[in-house]
This record gives sequence, C-alpha cells and structure tokens, in this order.
Amino acid sequence: MIDQSILVLDEGTTSTRAILFAQDGALRGAKQAQLTQHYPRSGWVEHDANEIWERTLACARAMVDKAGGAARVAAIGITNQRETVVAWDKNTGEPLSRAIVWQDRRTADFCRRLKDAGHEAEVRARTGLLLDPYFSGTKMRWLLDHDGAVKAAADAGTLAFGTVESWLVWKLTGGEQHISDASNASRTLLLPLDASGWDQELCELLGVPMETLPRVTDCAGELAVTDPGLLGGAIPICGMAGDQQAATIGQGCLTPGETKATYGTGAFVLSNTGTQVPWSDNRLLGTVLYQLAGERHYAIEGAVFVAGSLIKYLRDTLGLIATAAESEDLARSIPDNGGVVVVPALSGLGAPHWRPEARGIISGLGFDTGRAHIARASLEAMAHQTRDLASGFAADGCQWTGLRIDGGMAVNDWMAQDIADILGQSVTRPDFVETTALGAAMLAAVGSGLKTELREAADTMIGATKVFSPAMNEEARQQRLSRWEAALKKV
Ligand code: ADP
Repeated sequence: MIDQSILVLDEGTTSTRAILFAQDGALRGAKQAQLTQHYPRSGWVEHDANEIWERTLACARAMVDKAGGAARVAAIGITNQRETVVAWDKNTGEPLSRAIVWQDRRTADFCRRLKDAGHEAEVRARTGLLLDPYFSGTKMRWLLDHDGAVKAAADAGTLAFGTVESWLVWKLTGGEQHISDASNASRTLLLPLDASGWDQELCELLGVPMETLPRVTDCAGELAVTDPGLLGGAIPICGMAGDQQAATIGQGCLTPGETKATYGTGAFVLSNTGTQVPWSDNRLLGTVLYQLAGERHYAIEGAVFVAGSLIKYLRDTLGLIATAAESEDLARSIPDNGGVVVVPALSGLGAPHWRPEARGIISGLGFDTGRAHIARASLEAMAHQTRDLASGFAADGCQWTGLRIDGGMAVNDWMAQDIADILGQSVTRPDFVETTALGAAMLAAVGSGLKTELREAADTMIGATKVFSPAMNEEARQQRLSRWEAALKKV
C-alpha cells in the first residue's frame, strides 16, 4: 500500500494554510498565505471570500504536489475560523458581498433588540449561545437587510449562506455540495444543540430563510469529494470542524473533563462534556465538540479576552520588555511578585466575571517595584484568569481533569508551571503545537477509515508532550489567590 498523506486546510483569521500530515501525525509540509483584513468602519471586519478560496487553493495545490499527486492524498480535513459568514450565488458560485468576520460587531443593535424583547433565555437554552454579534446568524440577517445583491439572490432563490468551511467545500466540489459540519453549525444561533438540523423558529426569530443554509453533517466521514480538475484528481473531504473544536480534538480531549486552553491574543478554553447537552449558569457557552455517526459530543467553552495581548502591550505600548520571551527571563529573575498584582481587564473582563466596563489595574506598587515584578505579575495573571474559568466550569458541573495548553504564549515554560501551581493540576503541552490542524487531520483519518475511531487517532497521531506538575507550597498559593481576589475587587 502506498503511504498516503492527509491534507489539512487550516483557514485562520489572518492566514490560510495547507498542512500535510503522515498517518502517524508527523508533519510533511506546510504552505501559508496571508489574508487581507478589511476594516471599512470601526467595529467592522471583512474578508474577501474569493481571496480566501484562491489562496487556499494555491496552498492546497502546493501540498498535493509535495505529497506526490492527488492519488497520494488519502483525505482532506478542513478547520476554520468560526462564525465568519460568506454569502454567494448558487448559480454563479461567486460571492455576493464581503465575508463578515467573527470579530465584527455591526449586529450589536439587532442583538440588543432581541434581548430587550426577552429572547435571550430561550436562545441560550436551545443553542448554548448568547445573543451576541459574535455568532453568525445575526450577520446573515444583516446581509439580507443591508446588501442589495444578497437580498436579490434571496428573492430569486439562489442565495447560499455558509461559514468558511461551507464556502470552501462548495468551491472544492465545483458547487456540488452545500454542507456545514455540526461544530461550525452550532455557532450560528440557528442549530439547537440537541437537534440534527436547523430550527424553523430560530430561523424565523433571526430572519434567516432556512433554504439558504447548508445541510448539517457529521464532522467525519466521506463528506464530499473534490472536483477532479482542481487538485489533479478527486480527493475525498473526510473531516471538518471549527478551529477551537479541532484544537480540542488535536489535544486528545476525548473524555469528559479533559480541557484545553489556547493562549494566543486571548485565551480559548474548551472542556469535553461528553454526550450530555451542556448547560451553563455562568454564561459560559455550550457548543458541539464533534458529531460522529449522528451522535454529538459537546463542550463548554469560555474565553479570556486578554492573554498574549498583555505581553504585547508590555512590549509595544509600555516598552517594558524588548521581546515577548523576555517576560519569562524577568519572571525567573526574582523570587516572587513583591506584592504586585496585574488584573489585565484592558478590554473588560470576560468569563466568568462578565464585566465589560471593567478596566485593568496594577496594584501593590512600591519604590522597590521594578519591571521584572510587572512582567512576572502579568504572566501570573494568566494562571489566575485560568483558575477563575476553572471555577466557573466547575460551578456548571464540569470539573477539569488536567489542562492541555497550546497557542503562541504556551511556549513560556515559566507560565505553564505557574498555571499548574495555581490550578493545583497538571498542565500538559504537546511538542507539536499545531493542535488545530492535527485535530482536523485526526477527523479526516477517522472519516476516511485510516483510523477506526478518534481514540485510535489520538493514540497514534499525537506525539510527545511535556508535563508541568503542581509544585508550589500551599501557603504561597493561598497568598497569591487572596491577593488576586483583593485586586479583582478594586477593578
Ligand atoms: P494569535 O493566534 O491570537 O494571533 P498566537 O497564538 O500567535 O496568537 O500567540 C501570540 C501571542 O503570544 C502574542 O500576543 C505574544 O505576545 C504572546 N507570546 C509569544 N511568545 C511569548 C512568550 N515567550 N511569553 C509570553 N507570551 C508570548
């Protein structure tokens, strides 16, 4: 048997990448292209859907060549920035407008009106989400209300809506398939967590015609087949998941309680909650982690707004450090934080505090406070924010059983150890940090039958990890926790 590869298309917010994996998870190649960010107004963020497609295709072609041709690629897996909406015409296959990106806040007024009309409790109960511009359904409605071409296509019955995986599959199949996997579909506000397809009432509430939406599929299986003309031969598309879900799978969080945190600009935390539909009393999100053979596995999701962006702020705005990595050297250069606490509420406090009006503070300054103390306290804030999330998850009945970390900030060993110390739980970091792409490769491996199930994919494809075990003495830990609580009260 020839040694076929798995091709992953990882469509992020700032770049699109094609990544080639061997069946044991080893990296065989990667090709990346930047995506143009359009900011037409304050709070608006747009992408050019044709640019996404063309650059993704170019990267994919490079990796198919690297694999030795289409016959050497067993399957494609797709993972993507979630909640970004593309509108296109089913007849022409052309985008009707710019894509509205997940960060875009233009539907804030619409969300407020729905909330004021008392709809949030029901929407939360059914979808696990909040009435927030973040989610894709309100963006679809905005396009119908404000874009003439989108409205005209809706009237003519040729409008297709989709998130980015849906758009890519449409293009990759030459317009044959209009599908969205359940993990992406669960971010629209239109899919009840426990229903197999879109909900008529939710579609009516948001004003999105159901016939414009893709068919909801599993996250693995023979989901579609590429147009043979595009990549030099037909290749099956066998795995799809939103980026945070894919990272959770790529971290091997396949048992309830297993949790991953991605520390990038902000931090995204997802905990596997198994096959029970999750419910949060702490305004955490309930979401589909993956769907296989029609069966859903769920996750609770929480986010910290400020993570790596705090280190960037120390570097670029305050000029306290020259490089992000210097934060680690400074933290190690002193025995403790000298009483300094940083609460990084630079853009409000997210879960589980939910105080959008909050602003950051540095407390405990004295003449003996140096930049090392502030750098150390900034890294310490990551452990505290993570622990607060863990408490919120626990209050919702989801006890973490260890934490797996990734993202650009997770290279910081000092921070990883501090998180373990403050959580009182082991923290695991894979040597191979591209967990999002690996998760999509694992889904594609299962979907194509290369692996029998996700557990086998995890056991055979996830490589070596480094474990940080809690080592702080309890007195020091309690002091840290009480100082953090005191500082939070001042925010
Ligand atoms: P994103 O995907 O959100 O753009 P990344 O995962 O690339 O972010 O992570 C980059 C962030 O990590 C930056 O905000 C940077 O400040 C931070 N970072 C990078 N290296 C370190 C380090 N050694 N210690 C602390 N923070 C770091």
